[in-house]
Amino acid sequence: MADAALFGGVEAGGTKFICAVGRAPDTVVAQAQFPTEEPEGTLDNVVHFFQEQEKQHGTLAGFGIATFGPAEVNLASPHWGRISQTPKPGWSGADIVGRFRTAFGVPVGFDTDVNGAALAEAHWGASVDTAQSVYITVGTGIGGGIVVDGKALHGLLHPEIGHIRPRVVASDEGFAGVCPFHGDCLEGLASGPAIKARWGASLGGLPQDHPAWAMEANYLGQLCAQLILMVSPQRIVLGGGVMNHHELFPLIREQAQRWLGGYVDTLKDPGALDSVIVPPALGTRSGIYGALYLAQNALKALNQRA
Ligand code: ZN
Repeated sequence: MADAALFGGVEAGGTKFICAVGRAPDTVVAQAQFPTEEPEGTLDNVVHFFQEQEKQHGTLAGFGIATFGPAEVNLASPHWGRISQTPKPGWSGADIVGRFRTAFGVPVGFDTDVNGAALAEAHWGASVDTAQSVYITVGTGIGGGIVVDGKALHGLLHPEIGHIRPRVVASDEGFAGVCPFHGDCLEGLASGPAIKARWGASLGGLPQDHPAWAMEANYLGQLCAQLILMVSPQRIVLGGGVMNHHELFPLIREQAQRWLGGYVDTLKDPGALDSVIVPPALGTRSGIYGALYLAQNALKALNQRA
């Protein structure tokens, strides 16, 4: 029965690969995770997990890979399905989709982890009632995906929202930032490692009146204001480890309004951003549901072409 089919989803992260067998948005029958080591061994572990699962649950109907970037997500490229140039040892050019196609011979969907999460939130979560939405993760790095009319924005490569340049907060001018490419880009100034490098502790280890909170809210408020001006999203979902501190949300909304400077009429009133800048409705599951979405969508696309 096609509508009862199970899929395999992989949230391929920089430190671990999370694998799930299920059908989003309500069914996950098995889940496992493996450390991200060199590509061959990591993918061997992942493929073996799914092969074992197929013995229990039958053939999986498709796979979805939501991966760390940069990755080649352009279907027309001969390198589609591969990791692009990355400082991560061994992973430049790693053919993730090829490994799945060879092992399983079923449709494989492939996108960035943040595009996957953005799609999951747009189809089943916080952005379900919107035509245009953004998902941002703030954790080890900062990344974002943009969904327009149900589809993730790709274009030239895929958005790399974490590497835009915010205006540096005056009291932060002595801090060089931690991005290996840009130093003081947004990721370099506001990711988890940036907070630790600057203050010697993560946000959770600092008291609520510590200036780290206001500074973090300022940078993320700038991000939200710029997204509103540039992309006009009806919702901006902020997830990731740093955003588990929900106390940040009111501070970020306030800063975003300050940076907008009253320019957007409908967003001027107190509380106007309460329904725009929100936490993920799928919680920590947006990533893996994103991978399952990509799997389900890959099968659907194949069926539509047939
Ligand atoms: Zn950067």
